[in-house]
Amino acid sequence: MNTEEIQQQKEQVQQIWKKRPLIISGPCSAESEEQIMETAIGLAKTGKVDVMRSGIWKPRTRPGSFEGIGVKGLPWLQAAKKATGMLMAVEVATPKQVENALEFGIDILWIGGRTTVNPFSVQDIADALRGVEVPVLIKNPLNPDLELWTGAVERIDRAGIKDIGLIHRGFAVYGNTEYRNPPMWHLAIEMKMRYPELPFIADPSHICGNREGLLGVAQRAIDLDYDGLIIESHCTPDVAWSDAKQQVTPAQLEDILNHIVWRKEDK
Ligand code: PEP
Ligand code: MN
Repeated sequence: MNTEEIQQQKEQVQQIWKKRPLIISGPCSAESEEQIMETAIGLAKTGKVDVMRSGIWKPRTRPGSFEGIGVKGLPWLQAAKKATGMLMAVEVATPKQVENALEFGIDILWIGGRTTVNPFSVQDIADALRGVEVPVLIKNPLNPDLELWTGAVERIDRAGIKDIGLIHRGFAVYGNTEYRNPPMWHLAIEMKMRYPELPFIADPSHICGNREGLLGVAQRAIDLDYDGLIIESHCTPDVAWSDAKQQVTPAQLEDILNHIVWRKEDK
């Protein structure tokens, strides 16, 4: 990117970062150029999505699952951005991933729940971000530990990142529960109160683990004054390579967003 393009990107990111509600959507994982483009066009058509998310590197709990397409997928996101104007967000878990994502002009980075649990990993990411101007969203750690979440915020903040946001993705528990990751709203709200100035975004997809619960959880978050939503979407969710059960089509996403009763000031 030349200097003018970098300046343009900064301005666009700043404008979107302040938007309420901030709506982020896109596939759990980038799988192919066609899947990214078709999903991006579907999302852009709704006119309701500000940022497209796509997992390029996927830290999976167990080996043998799809671990992400890797660097090869980054040009697909560039093309999707060019075609739709949506900002692109990617999960990063290592300094090399930070470097690659920035090299391909990714607009927003996020730290996943499996990384926030590890202070050394978060510190490595923070060190790679020193001197860089990019918004970073930090998901809660898998376990219900607000100190770990807070520690991650402090590490990224001390690296000089100005725009930090929080994503509430629910907390892992053992055994079958109504939710894939119970929201434990009281904990999330305590975190929100610790950092009232940071955008606080709900992730109904990873909280629910299914499609049916998405609207209810999204509505609850909006009622609790969250600043935005991140919801997984895919052009053909049933055959998605990861998190197939919880992803929705762009049209289903639009329907969910249309059914939410928004705060008056957001209408
Ligand atoms: C994801 O966003 O696809 C993801 C893996 O989420 P989490 O880190 O919340 O499990
Ligand atoms: Mn996912």
